[in-house]
Amino acid sequence: MRFHILTLFPDMVRQGLETSIIGNAIQNGILELNLINIRDFSQDRHKKVDDYPYGGGAGMVMQAQPVYDAWRSVADSIGCRPRCIYLTPQGSLFTQPMAKALAAEDDLIFLCGHYEGVDERVLEEIVTDQVSIGDYVLTGGELPAMVMADAIARMVPGVLTNEESGSTESLEGGLLEYPQYSRPAEWMGKKVPPVLLSGDHQKVESWRREQSVLRTLRQRPELLEEAELSLDDVKLILKLSDKLSHPSCIFSENPCNSSLPVLK
Ligand code: SAM
Repeated sequence: MRFHILTLFPDMVRQGLETSIIGNAIQNGILELNLINIRDFSQDRHKKVDDYPYGGGAGMVMQAQPVYDAWRSVADSIGCRPRCIYLTPQGSLFTQPMAKALAAEDDLIFLCGHYEGVDERVLEEIVTDQVSIGDYVLTGGELPAMVMADAIARMVPGVLTNEESGSTESLEGGLLEYPQYSRPAEWMGKKVPPVLLSGDHQKVESWRREQSVLRTLRQRPELLEEAELSLDDVKLILKLSDKLSHPSCIFSENPCNSSLPVLK
């Protein structure tokens, strides 16, 4: 799979993606990272890529010509128009199912905006999808492109050494993942749940499933509407939803005052 990233800051993206698991996949040839510096396509003698917005207002706007020519260089090199994703807070919210679907593509182009954004005319011309990574505004599209590329890359066969670990992750099947523990069996007086030391795989599996359902119910109850649930899951939810009367509180104004509801 090839990621083509149109950006004004290729070094930022390179440093972010050529590290750790994604970096290894690039080195092993499972992924290809093609960084295109939009500034290289400026026809201005000072290599300017932005200008004032028509109609006035704050900030600068990235001009259509260098963005179009940068995109064109990629489209010409692969001989088609691959999906071109514009990272923007105005786009559809990025989700795990979206990452999974995009992992089936051979080529993806990401357009990273900066300043006040990009001239609308070039967006109309080249962009197939507008995607946001969350309801907040960042200074540029580089971090969102890296976030998307990372999440998509994990879905590409061979990127994760243990393929299993991709399919039991949070949000797979619509639930959050169960709690994880490693050695030692006791730390600061806290013991690992005994079932995990029992060696009984079936019991471990059902404990994990229960914990996934409980976590999702407590921390992201809205996910349950779309989750793939068994009859046992539903029974558990019905049994516990009354007991969880306090609102989920994982984002607290003052962490010192937070008291998370404890699930047993
Ligand atoms: N004026 C734009 C607006 O109100 O929609 C915001 C521009 S923002 C300061 C600069 C660039 O950062 C955008 O063009 C986009 O590429 C990127 N960006 C900012 N927040 C983002 C988000 N939540 N998701 C994806 N991209 C984002």
